[in-house]
Amino acid sequence: MSPASNIHELKDTFGRIHNYLRISLIEKCNLRCKYCMPADGIPLSPKASLMNAEEILEFARIFVGLGVNKIRLTGGEPLLRKDIYDILEGLSKLPVDLSLTTNGLLIDRHVDNFLKLGVKNINFSLDTLREDRFFDITRRTGFAKTMDNFRLLHDQGFNLKINTVLVKGTNEDELVDLVNLTKDFNVSVRFIEFMPFDGNSWDRSKMVSEKEVLGQLGSYFGTERISSLPNEENFTARKFKIVGYLGDFGIISSVTNPFCGTCNRIRLTANGRIKNCLFSNKETDLLTAMRTGEDVEKLILESILKKKAVRAGMDSMEKLSDPALHSDNRSMIAIGG
Ligand code: SAM
Ligand code: SF4
Repeated sequence: MSPASNIHELKDTFGRIHNYLRISLIEKCNLRCKYCMPADGIPLSPKASLMNAEEILEFARIFVGLGVNKIRLTGGEPLLRKDIYDILEGLSKLPVDLSLTTNGLLIDRHVDNFLKLGVKNINFSLDTLREDRFFDITRRTGFAKTMDNFRLLHDQGFNLKINTVLVKGTNEDELVDLVNLTKDFNVSVRFIEFMPFDGNSWDRSKMVSEKEVLGQLGSYFGTERISSLPNEENFTARKFKIVGYLGDFGIISSVTNPFCGTCNRIRLTANGRIKNCLFSNKETDLLTAMRTGEDVEKLILESILKKKAVRAGMDSMEKLSDPALHSDNRSMIAIGG
């Protein structure tokens, strides 16, 4: 037995306990969101080096043994996986809070299975409420389907969060319309600051900061109508509500105001590599280790112990703005957001 197999929690050197695993199921996507991936897609890993369903379930069991009690499936577009039902079914038998992040295009094909397996928590990515702009941002059609599927999930009582990446000159003029969705829909709309990844042409001036979001909403609704909600444990979004509205909204300010101090997240890429931070360009290949019979738990623990205090060491805007420091960080589609 290795020394690492006695551990039952993944605590880093800053005392943060990692109980939330995000698994990317696939590198492919049916959209080409400009902030996420290049028009021609990204170089894909050979099929043989991607985790199969059994390996995903085996990793999930190992992480659960190490204290993980929350698993989110993401991608690429996770619903493109042909074996998504088998994966969900296997994971639904584990003692975890199971959730999924999706662009929503394929939801109608899967909604009955979600209900059957008890997958109730869905993060739904939606950057615009305008059809022409949807095409501009995603380089694909499918707006009507996306909106139908959003309503379908809502009407079926799913616990729904909307993820909106704000990019200046693209969709920041829809802040009010998106918040107005929360008037009659009990959903949480989360505005995400545009983050830098390899090849996504990030620059600071395209980012809409938390301050600007609150400023714009304050001018429209009046600051007295915006009430601040208490932070959740391990929060990533600072949450607010328009008084009298059914839903709420939040701001995920990983760039201007990071929430690293309470971070409990670990990421597993579709090719089976662990990343201890979304901003890190260091990965450990767990899949090869599993296939060759190495001690996977030990590698997981070593990765957690190397985790830096803030954004993989980019603890200032200057460092974050230096392309040399983040250019080797694979795009969100390869990491799983
Ligand atoms: N395809 C699914 C979707 O879009 O929901 C799941 C994968 S996607 C990579 C996960 C999340 O990452 C989405 O909410 C997306 O908006 C977000 N994302 C992608 N690139 C980003 C970036 N550069 N900055 C901030 N968020 C980003
Ligand atoms: Fe695909 Fe999601 Fe990336 Fe858009 S954000 S390209 S839907 S993975």
